[in-house]
Amino acid sequence: MPFMTLRFASRNGRAQLVVGSENRLVDLETASNGKFSSEPIDAFRRWKELRAFAATLSDNPGDICDINSLDAPSPWPTQVFGIGLNYRSHAEESGLPIPTTPLTFTKYSSSIAHGNADIPLVGSSIDWEVELVVVIADGGRNIATNKAWDHVAGIAVGQDISDRALQFASQPPQFSLGKSRKNYSPFGPWLIDAADLPQRDALHMTCTLNGEIVQDTSTDDLIFNVSDIIAYLSGIVQLLPGDVIFTGTPGGVGVSRKPSVFLKPGDVLVSTIDGIGTTTNRCVAE
Ligand code: ZN
Repeated sequence: MPFMTLRFASRNGRAQLVVGSENRLVDLETASNGKFSSEPIDAFRRWKELRAFAATLSDNPGDICDINSLDAPSPWPTQVFGIGLNYRSHAEESGLPIPTTPLTFTKYSSSIAHGNADIPLVGSSIDWEVELVVVIADGGRNIATNKAWDHVAGIAVGQDISDRALQFASQPPQFSLGKSRKNYSPFGPWLIDAADLPQRDALHMTCTLNGEIVQDTSTDDLIFNVSDIIAYLSGIVQLLPGDVIFTGTPGGVGVSRKPSVFLKPGDVLVSTIDGIGTTTNRCVAE
């Protein structure tokens, strides 16, 4: 069976490829006879080599992938960026002007979790934000817009879970802590290699809450698209292999509803990017 688009996952800290229609896991270090190490960051650093290696794999038998056994595809990124107000629909519902530069904040790496992680609720103002998530392959500085996708390993769907009370606790607001509680940065279930995706700048993305659609967009509505964000960030900081970018959420979050709606224990969020992946997050009492 020919190898399809490269899919990359991480389990118990070890790099995995996901192959075939049954989603079988192939341990990268074992399958490559040690050519690649077990460390996910080694794969990100050598992503073009990995792409060539993956193309040589046939229908390699491995465990059928239990999505709940996976880590986040980049489990310990050095840097995690979030982009705020990056869809017109979300800026408008927030009553804020359309940004003219990417509004960038940090999500601390200890908030990263696998795609299907439970969300422990702290307080009564926890909100959802479905987002396209990008993982950097070989990074760099001053990456040109038209070369930006060459520096992307893959993409996944994720949630930028937000504690609104904490996000706006001080003036001026400081987003980073409010978006970094335990498991508040789930994404997955795996990365889809972005190299061969003709529609990578126009993906259909939805979020449902207890089965009801609350967010529904195309990523071509991003104000700053993936290329713009990478060019902007790399002009300021060095992007590193495995770094993660949450690219922003469309309209439909809970805080902007009238009246506001926040997550409760037992709520279930399902986040989907068509052709890329689906994650399910159950909300639990802290
Ligand atoms: Zn966000």
